[in-house]
Amino acid sequence: MLAVVKDKKGPGFTLKEVEIPKPKDDEVLIKVKAVGICGTDLSIINGNKDIKIPMIPGHEFSGDIVEVGKKVKEFKVGDRVSAAIVISCGNCYYCRKGLETLCDNIIETGIHVNGAFAEYVAVNEKVLYKLPDGMTYEQGASIDPIASAYHSIKKASIGSEDVVIVFGPGPIGIYILQIAKVEGAKKAICVGLKRNERRLALAKQLGADYIFNFDEILGEEIKRINNNELADVAFVATGSPQALNAALNCVRKHGKIVLVGMFHELVTANIVDVVRREIQVEGSMCYSGIDFKECIDLVKLGRIKVESLITHTFRLAEISKALEVINKGNAMKILLYP
Ligand SMILES: [Zn+2]
Ligand SMILES: [Zn+2]
Repeated sequence: MLAVVKDKKGPGFTLKEVEIPKPKDDEVLIKVKAVGICGTDLSIINGNKDIKIPMIPGHEFSGDIVEVGKKVKEFKVGDRVSAAIVISCGNCYYCRKGLETLCDNIIETGIHVNGAFAEYVAVNEKVLYKLPDGMTYEQGASIDPIASAYHSIKKASIGSEDVVIVFGPGPIGIYILQIAKVEGAKKAICVGLKRNERRLALAKQLGADYIFNFDEILGEEIKRINNNELADVAFVATGSPQALNAALNCVRKHGKIVLVGMFHELVTANIVDVVRREIQVEGSMCYSGIDFKECIDLVKLGRIKVESLITHTFRLAEISKALEVINKGNAMKILLYP
């Protein structure tokens, strides 16, 4: 089968023919129908993430089951499925507390075991979810980023009086905005860099009541539209190191900041402000199986719009073209068709 293989340290990958994986007893073999490219995949391809090589990246996918292992009970050949990225052990301290994304023995598809930038992928039955009738493969391949957004929303427990601000109009940020509105947020604001104009426009189209450029005096702008009060909750869905401090300046006393983006450098922030104004700062990592299931339902019910975030599609063999589009900054979400 054709696969994108990360087979050397540093930047780069090889597109080549490899053996079709043989599913273990508790795994199924899936013919991949669509797979999204995510920031984690880019980190792997660019050599910025320390992984065992060779490795096939790709974890945002959907497809058809073509073979089942001997002990697989709940799934059969022909089922249309998507899969959660985290395969947790179920036994460690964190798993027993229901915090499976923090599992001590975590295995993630496309990071620790071969993923879906390939024609076929073998996946453990316990992280599989059937796609409901009528759900497209494109929607199925989008559940992973939606679930990451959803997990961060759960951390914030948004109420109907809450004004929410989202830093970073990327796919996760826009899904956070959409879900915040579904959860009943009174107003949603999206903040991005000037060069993200098109992403901000999409945020507006999909539910942001207001969009701002990062260089605007945000605290003042929020007060202007919110009866002279700051925001209740800020989500930092960007790795931009300035965003945490900006978020601190935008939330009210006892407000919440949920960090979802991956910072790749040290962040400087006015932490005494967290003390003085009792700001609650929390990290949100990935999502649980329950989050994944609930997001399938939200998409099925049409509560979350997926299609307008998919700006480009390519054949798997054209992955280099897809990466060029990403490097030019023109893409929101790109799907590959193996
Ligand atoms: Zn992802
Ligand atoms: Zn565990």
